[in-house]
Amino acid sequence: MDTFVWDQNFVTGLPQVDEQHHRLVNLFNEFSHSLFLSDANRKTLATDTFERVLDYTRYHFHDEETLMRTAGVDPRHVHAHHAMHKQFVAQVKSMWERRNAMADPNESLVGFLTSWLSLHILGIDQSLARQIKLIRQGMSAASAFERETLANDNGMQAVLKLINNLYHVLSLQNTELAQANQHLEQRVAQRTLELEKTNKELEQAYVQLEAYSRVDGLLQIANRKYFDTRLREACASAFRRKQALGLLMIDVDFFKRYNDSYGHQAGDTCLQAVARAVQKALTRSTDLAARYGGEELAVILPDTDEAGVIAVAERVVAEVSALGLPHKASDAAPFVTVSVGAVSQVPTEKEGALSLLGQADAALYSAKDSGRNRSVLYKS
Ligand code: GH3
Ligand code: MG
Ligand code: MG
Repeated sequence: MDTFVWDQNFVTGLPQVDEQHHRLVNLFNEFSHSLFLSDANRKTLATDTFERVLDYTRYHFHDEETLMRTAGVDPRHVHAHHAMHKQFVAQVKSMWERRNAMADPNESLVGFLTSWLSLHILGIDQSLARQIKLIRQGMSAASAFERETLANDNGMQAVLKLINNLYHVLSLQNTELAQANQHLEQRVAQRTLELEKTNKELEQAYVQLEAYSRVDGLLQIANRKYFDTRLREACASAFRRKQALGLLMIDVDFFKRYNDSYGHQAGDTCLQAVARAVQKALTRSTDLAARYGGEELAVILPDTDEAGVIAVAERVVAEVSALGLPHKASDAAPFVTVSVGAVSQVPTEKEGALSLLGQADAALYSAKDSGRNRSVLYKS
């Protein structure tokens, strides 16, 4: 069905104008069809038809304005008529450009085009036709114009003028609304971006905070809290998989005397070196060294049997000795040494961490008792 239905009232009696109006009406209908098509090429088709509508409208306006001038129509009419044409082209272009931000772009566009053309033909074009007819009958252009606008300014003319104004205002509001919409969308998009950025920063800060909360500030290895969690998990996992779990308890020999001899600050530096030496003795990424407390370190060795834990414990003792840090007050050696208690067990219960710790501690005690600077494996 056509959106624009031709009516005898549209006939102006100016053959060239009427023919062009007919073509315009057909083009408008074609445009309206293209907008409501369910074709995949609808967008391209509509854009194409819209360009043709605009081109032909411009061509028609130009022809009509030439006709007015050659017919000698009063300049006041020519001026007003030309202004209306210009306004229409500007409005329709701006609506088309902002159609994506409009609530009902198709209805608005088609509604505006058809209503505007009807009103334009019924109003000012008919008035133009009447003036040309009068001029051809011998009346002066000015008289013809005045008769139209003054004497003939009846209710119909007034209403047409009013409606025309109304359309102008409506189209302006539509454009403003579309602009406001676009602005709002941009602001929302920008805000979303900012929020995403803040969220990311927050996430990173959280990750960093979590990492900090696991590490001992002085030794830069895992802290006691994180060690406890990891040991519980390792124990449960070893119990489930029936695998051996290894554990080392490491204690610096005569460390009280070290502090007394070299000062607390030197003691701190010594502990940092010991922590690095212990790390160096570990080979698997799943091994975890932690500060158990004071000058005591502990190492979790998942999936490590007795031979394995002895090997690692020996490496720890050797790496610390290899530091060669002088310790004149030690009875064990003239340099800093550690004693290591080692244990490896397949946990007999899921919550076996405590008994494992007790066994490693007993082995450590035995290492201290038997001369220090050595490792001892716990034997049940
Ligand atoms: P043993 O060979 O029997 O282990 O003797 P020890 O002197 O090492 O044993 P003890 O447990 O009596 O002494 C541990 C000392 O470690 C006491 C404490 O002042 C010191 N210590 C604990 N933590 C730190 C620390 O963070 N920095 C320093 N400088 N010293 C620490
Ligand atoms: Mg101690
Ligand atoms: Mg000690």
